Amino acid sequence: MIILKQINKFFETEEVQTQALKNINLEVQEGEFIAIMGPSGCGKSTLLNVIGLLESPSSGNYLLDGDEVANFKESQRTNLRKGNIGFVFQNFHLINQLTVSENIALPLAYLDLNKSDRKKKVEEVLDRLKISHRRDHYPQQLSGGQQQRVGICRAVVSNPKLILADEPTGNLDSKNGKEVMELLTELNKQGATIIMVTHSQRDANYAHRVISLLDGEIVTEVENEIELF
Ligand code: ADP
Ligand code: MG
Repeated sequence: MIILKQINKFFETEEVQTQALKNINLEVQEGEFIAIMGPSGCGKSTLLNVIGLLESPSSGNYLLDGDEVANFKESQRTNLRKGNIGFVFQNFHLINQLTVSENIALPLAYLDLNKSDRKKKVEEVLDRLKISHRRDHYPQQLSGGQQQRVGICRAVVSNPKLILADEPTGNLDSKNGKEVMELLTELNKQGATIIMVTHSQRDANYAHRVISLLDGEIVTEVENEIELF
């Protein structure tokens, strides 16, 4: 369960101060699937990064499963993320020196698994996202859409209970995008909480609730007619 109370986030550079998040109040129940929408620059990625413990808020409270984590140090945030939070990054963040399989296996390093179980889990997601034939390739040998799918494989391979996805279908054609949304829906039905940033109304229709941001503020929240599992 995620509770954000009066969250503000400022970015300061030498000349300008930007307020990326303004007074965000948001509760997300376990097992919910949330879509975040809004124009470019309105704070969607910043909100996801705060929820995913990649950024600290400048002020406000963040309760994650009952713990106040807003002021956690980097090392505490890293520990909490391990194996628990799967992140699909807007610009992939794949490691160029590692193969597709090795990139996907990274989150499994935190789990107590033997080598063959690790391999099995990697193969399962490779198959599921139809990228097995690229398992030994390096990220720069792949198209944007393929890199996106590798990023999604890495985010879900450890069965995290919280999946955060920043425009997961942004680089995919309509058919591949639909497959990714079906995968996210299936993981949600199996119990994962999902928070996804999207520009696509089609993707947003898969969510229980759609939150619109404008200029760092939540302006609307709309419930879709989908039952919470
Ligand atoms: P979105 O994902 O909705 O496009 P972002 O959350 O990336 O928006 O950015 C929100 C605002 O914060 C923008 O004005 C952006 O320029 C600014 N911003 C985001 N990250 C940083 C950063 N690391 N340093 C300075 N400004 C930032
Ligand atoms: Mg963004």
